[in-house]
Amino acid sequence: MAKERGGEPKDIASLGEVLAVSKPKAASKTPSPGPSAQANPAPAARAGRAGHARDIGIDVPAPKRACEDPHCPFHGTLPVRGQTFEGTVVSTRMQRTAVIERKYLRYVQKFERYEKRTKRFNVHSPPCLDLKAGDRVMLMECRPISKTVSFVAIQNRGTAA
Ligand SMILES: [Zn+2]
Repeated sequence: MAKERGGEPKDIASLGEVLAVSKPKAASKTPSPGPSAQANPAPAARAGRAGHARDIGIDVPAPKRACEDPHCPFHGTLPVRGQTFEGTVVSTRMQRTAVIERKYLRYVQKFERYEKRTKRFNVHSPPCLDLKAGDRVMLMECRPISKTVSFVAIQNRGTAA
């Protein structure tokens, strides 16, 4: 019995120590989320606010209306990086994907002249940009969204000549 009694306080003491050790950790953990939580609400509130667009880090105006597309750089979580191009929308028949054509000149050294070239991109088209055939569009590289889509439209410049 004595041994058990002797053992119990030790256990309790050790438990107390464990608790004492674990408590400060928990205490130290709890304040740290506090400041970060104070810092975090801003983006969270931004995302929650209807119509408020995320800052994508590119100097383009945010779309006028919001959308629910997770692959929208402004209202979803898709990061943009890499190359930017300007092009013209050729087709919007796919769901949330547009075909965008880009014409450019390539120098041919042998003939000392430029040749016209055309490239077509399959581009993710967020619903908030309302892309239609003929629109001038800014596109920017993003992570691959599908086998052929690794660009996303970030600005609709309308049907400018
Ligand atoms: Zn959007």
